Amino acid sequence: MSERELHADCSRCEALCCVAPAFAKSSDFAINKPAGTPCRNLSGNRCTIHERLDASGFHGCVVFDCFGAGQRLTQETFGGSDRSAKPEMLELLPIMRQLHELMWLLTEALRLDEAHSVHGKLRDALASIDHLAAGSPADLRALDLDAQRRRVNPLLQRASELARAGIKGRQDHRGAQLIGRKMRGADLRGASFRGALLIGADLRDADLRRADFTGADLRGADLRGADLTGVLFLTESQRRAAVTSSR
Ligand code: SF4
Repeated sequence: MSERELHADCSRCEALCCVAPAFAKSSDFAINKPAGTPCRNLSGNRCTIHERLDASGFHGCVVFDCFGAGQRLTQETFGGSDRSAKPEMLELLPIMRQLHELMWLLTEALRLDEAHSVHGKLRDALASIDHLAAGSPADLRALDLDAQRRRVNPLLQRASELARAGIKGRQDHRGAQLIGRKMRGADLRGASFRGALLIGADLRDADLRRADFTGADLRGADLRGADLTGVLFLTESQRRAAVTSSR
């Protein structure tokens, strides 16, 4: 499984994420759209407003990442099928996306030199999830995703602990409600923000080296000037949801 396959490649997908979800008109979506119907901005498999999603009121699309699930369903699970398979692809997109997200997290953990003692287990888990993702539509539908998460999460947490072990006084904000919290310039090296709600938090100029952001909600969090060197498990979609100097 190459790194490229754990990132969306819309050119190899049937635009599944532009059809499968329901949209509720909000700051993230400019329109209401029922689940399973094509977005009005779709032409064939291409988004006609791709270059101006934010300006057009579709920030929700900017921050979405399928981790390569869309192209795997299109090319592998349903490879060679005609378009009549599309309703089934839509149904399986959330399942494949969760499997690919776990694979992305495991791949990130394997980059951590300090976690070398668990690299063998991480590689085994990655191969096992990849094998599940290669199953038939019926196999995928029958999967117990919670059980897979329960199996993989302790390994990811162990890798994170090993990577942060050398940082004294690191803070633990796992699952914390930090909505709008002012932490500008704070020393948060090696902090755990696993599953934390950081919506609108002020993290400008904070020292976030080696902080763990697994599953943290960073919508509107201000990361301008923050040091994110060696940060753990921060996805591209989390970065796009936050305020950074590039946005
Ligand atoms: S706005 Fe573009 S990217 Fe978003 S759902 Fe519609 S077609 Fe897809």
